Amino acid sequence: MQVSRLPFDPGPAGWASIVARGPTYPKLENDITVDFAVVGAGFAGLSAARRLRQLEPKSKIAIFEAREICEGSSGRNSGFMIDLPHNLGSKDYVGQIEIDRQQTALNREAIQFAQEAAEEYHLTEETFSIAGKINAAATKTGLKHNSDYAAHLSKLNEPCEILDAKQMYEICGSRYYLGGLATPGNGLIKPGLYVRGIAKGISQSDVQIYEKSPILSLKKFGNAWKLKTPEGAVEAKIVVLAVNGHIESFGFFRHRLMHIYLYASITRQLTSDEIKTLSGEPAWGFTPADSLGSTVRRISGAGGDRIVMRNGISWAPNRTVPISRLERARRSHVRSFKRRFPNLAKVNMEYSWGGLLCLSRNAVPVFGELDTGLHSACCQNGLGTVQGTLHGKLVAEFICGHRSSSVDHVLKLAKPVKLPPEPFCTIGAEVVTRWGEFKAGRER
Ligand SMILES: Cc1cc2nc3c(=O)[nH]c(=O)nc-3n(C[C@H](O)[C@H](O)[C@H](O)COP(=O)(O)OP(=O)(O)OC[C@H]3O[C@@H](n4cnc5c(N)ncnc54)[C@H](O)[C@@H]3O)c2cc1C
Repeated sequence: MQVSRLPFDPGPAGWASIVARGPTYPKLENDITVDFAVVGAGFAGLSAARRLRQLEPKSKIAIFEAREICEGSSGRNSGFMIDLPHNLGSKDYVGQIEIDRQQTALNREAIQFAQEAAEEYHLTEETFSIAGKINAAATKTGLKHNSDYAAHLSKLNEPCEILDAKQMYEICGSRYYLGGLATPGNGLIKPGLYVRGIAKGISQSDVQIYEKSPILSLKKFGNAWKLKTPEGAVEAKIVVLAVNGHIESFGFFRHRLMHIYLYASITRQLTSDEIKTLSGEPAWGFTPADSLGSTVRRISGAGGDRIVMRNGISWAPNRTVPISRLERARRSHVRSFKRRFPNLAKVNMEYSWGGLLCLSRNAVPVFGELDTGLHSACCQNGLGTVQGTLHGKLVAEFICGHRSSSVDHVLKLAKPVKLPPEPFCTIGAEVVTRWGEFKAGRER
């Protein structure tokens, strides 16, 4: 099959732009044979390769990435590896108790896998840490979402702490927030450092990484697969597709996956005077109490002292978006930033970007064997840093015959259900999103 579309996202991957490039990897320029070919070097692809290496220490493993490491959504996200329920379809992230309990255990398995990788590859504390997070509320409705969420967490026996406006001010230096809900188990990454650090660690364990080597076609060839890149070819017994929503470009699950763009911007480095004016702690992470509000982070250390804003969603059935949509999102980031930090009104956004998320209507991944020797760890739904890590790890275990309750759990999940026909699906989704964003008000 020919791959119908290659990935392209608007704007630079901000997290990759603010830190040093790190190692580069070659393009595939010849014909090679490997045991395992992993397509895509995001959270899922890197985790699959790492787990395959652990389980099959002598095998030949190669990863093929269409762009540079960290240029896809793995370098465009907000860096929250959330352990707790985070149901984007619900205003306050809450789902059904048993499902949430199961999902939390799986999320933690992924976070632990990420943490072990961070330790093994000597990644710094600012690259990965279990820093917790705060659901920040700027409105009475947001406070109510937080208290509902806290009640749900207590049913799950999960600890959390309600913060008042003064405590929020002491953390972030802004009087914008009325309160917050702190939870301790969230992993916080600096994506530019984390993704490149994991790639470097894996490559040192003899996994071959090829950058700027998009897979253009995939063909069954006896009992193996042949993959073509613009300048080379790969023969592999086992292929793992770890391309998230781009799996649709490989011809799978058409009209069953929803592709959405999220947008973020990062300020220029704050000066020492601006840092004093801002006050608060040097690094923190706020997710919005209303799922359509703004995610805000303050970072320091590598890449400088900066603030990262994320809001805005657009539905993109073809996995592309006009550049004007990024411009609109950028204006929204500036507005949201100035509202929160009026004393930093002169600080501009240095980088703005969009990146893709893939959801299914019934919130299931595309996981497991699609054809003999062809496996998928795609469609991560709302929590791709964690779910990507999880599905990459589990698909490698499944391939190597290493069964566990987690592998069995994801294998038993339903397949993504059909979407309503276009253009009604996208129009309907856009209307619901715009209305939700309007109602989110000051949470944006
Ligand atoms: C602004 C923003 C904020 C976000 N914030 C968070 C957050 O805080 N927490 C969270 O959990 N999630 C967040 N996400 C979502 C998260 O980034 C993604 O869900 C996650 O990156 C998915 O991981 P993945 O490995 O499955 O896919 P990706 O990271 O998208 O990796 C897939 C890779 O496959 C490559 N590829 C595609 N086609 C081909 C091909 N033909 N050949 C070779 N390579 C190919 C792509 O270039 C890409 O690098 C956010 C996303 C955005 C855009």
